[in-house]
Amino acid sequence: MKIFCVGRNYASHAKELGSEIPTEPVIFMKPKSALIQGHTPFYYPEFTNELNYEAELVVRISKNGKYIQEKHASNYYNAITVGIDFTARDIQNQLKEKGLPWEKAKAFDNSAAVGKFIEINNSYDRKNINFSFLKNKELVQKANSNEMLFSIDQVLANISNYFSLNIGDYVFTGTPAGVGECMVGDFLEGFLEKEQVLNIEIK
Ligand code: ZN
Repeated sequence: MKIFCVGRNYASHAKELGSEIPTEPVIFMKPKSALIQGHTPFYYPEFTNELNYEAELVVRISKNGKYIQEKHASNYYNAITVGIDFTARDIQNQLKEKGLPWEKAKAFDNSAAVGKFIEINNSYDRKNINFSFLKNKELVQKANSNEMLFSIDQVLANISNYFSLNIGDYVFTGTPAGVGECMVGDFLEGFLEKEQVLNIEIK
């Protein structure tokens, strides 16, 4: 099982981090040990003093593929949820400054939280998906998939030029504006449309 992530897929978020708008999807990966599902508690890692949440739409791959064309990409995933790409922002900034790989900041244990997956069918409008994210009951992130710089289908097509996509892989599709810090004791909730699909307490 592989976990792919897209960086800077919303102009609003690229802007808040002072990053350039990319001309092709920025892709990175997390290992299997990064995955947490359901109600598993998240323990604040010892190596960071600036843990950030990034709420994202996550799709689950349902068909093996390579060199997938954008027009066929919607056949390759059949479930969607909201996830959190946990990021040690202080470590990431240090690594970025030195031009070093950012796995220590992005791919550590439990850094990829996924909510309950909702099955979707062919008629589901993948370019009009609303999601939102609450920290301690306060709305902090809210977006629609139509705001992505690269649509879910474009992202899958791009990934599949470099990596095979396999059944059970996950793709985190990028975070909108509103990322921020989380602290021990924070309660995080992700909503797909009106349905709560994710809740995590930081321990
Ligand atoms: Zn992210």
